[in-house]
Amino acid sequence: MRCLIVHNLKSGFGSNAIFEFERALLNEGDECVLRILKEGQRADDVLADAESFDLAVLSGGDGTTSSLLYGLRYRDVLTCVFPSGTANLFCLNLGIAAEPSALARACRVGRCVSTDLGELTFTDIHGSRHKRGFSIMMGTGFDAQIMRDAVAGKQTLGAVAYFTAVFSNVHPPVRHFVIDMDGTTIERDGISCLVANTTQIQAGIEIVPDSRMDDGLLEVIILEQADAVGLLRPLIASIVDHKGDRLGRPEIETFRGQHIRITPSLPVPLEYDGETYEEPVASYEAVVLPAANRIVVDGLSSYHDPSDSASEENPRFGSGELASFPEP
Ligand SMILES: [Mg+2]
Repeated sequence: MRCLIVHNLKSGFGSNAIFEFERALLNEGDECVLRILKEGQRADDVLADAESFDLAVLSGGDGTTSSLLYGLRYRDVLTCVFPSGTANLFCLNLGIAAEPSALARACRVGRCVSTDLGELTFTDIHGSRHKRGFSIMMGTGFDAQIMRDAVAGKQTLGAVAYFTAVFSNVHPPVRHFVIDMDGTTIERDGISCLVANTTQIQAGIEIVPDSRMDDGLLEVIILEQADAVGLLRPLIASIVDHKGDRLGRPEIETFRGQHIRITPSLPVPLEYDGETYEEPVASYEAVVLPAANRIVVDGLSSYHDPSDSASEENPRFGSGELASFPEP
């Protein structure tokens, strides 16, 4: 097996788990190239030769792995997303065992699924256009402000940094959003407008019930509450009803589509999978890229491809090697 690992040392708590993974993955005769991301390095450059490997492992938080997944869109590269970040929502949404030796085993088995990406195009306040990929969700308004305020605390506080940021933004501004979705125009007032590929967040909470990252659709989510305290209602509803099929999601309105253009009444702060853009943006567009990546999953995942022949009995990377492989 020839394996490429791209790792962001600055993700999350600077976890060393990726090195444990590497040790568990490799066997006699294997070759592994480990690339540490440099500040400002482009995904296209670090992944230029990705097709020459049997497997690419993307190690970092959701922001890092999303930009790398976007660099691999529609390329024939078997990819493992390794959770080295603070939230690691991609792995959470896939429902795989996010533990180094279990992930290493899943890579050798090589069972994989095709997942969608979101492609975000936005116009900044100077009129320049920018393009980014997202695998979980992007948002403007309150959520982006929270991400921005949480940045300083993420290394030391982890997920707690997000909650601290929520309560330092108790009265976020309400904006008017004009949403053009697949030929229909919707107008709403809210503190936040998000577009998501999939919507499970920490503690198994699904913001939108039944959202998936292989359905070729994006979810538009509008938070209509005018203050952070009011958000406690949908938050509590989501804690007691993870899936949202009993209580629904009070104060949250959602739509589903493929091509979404959003124009807020005033420039808004922007985030994509937890990365924030340095200035407010004037307008943005999100398009779904169906089945853009081939992602390794294990038997625990609710995602599976019935046409995939790889299994524990028929591993992609050799049964002999797997026989000597440690159990997770
Ligand atoms: Mg989806």
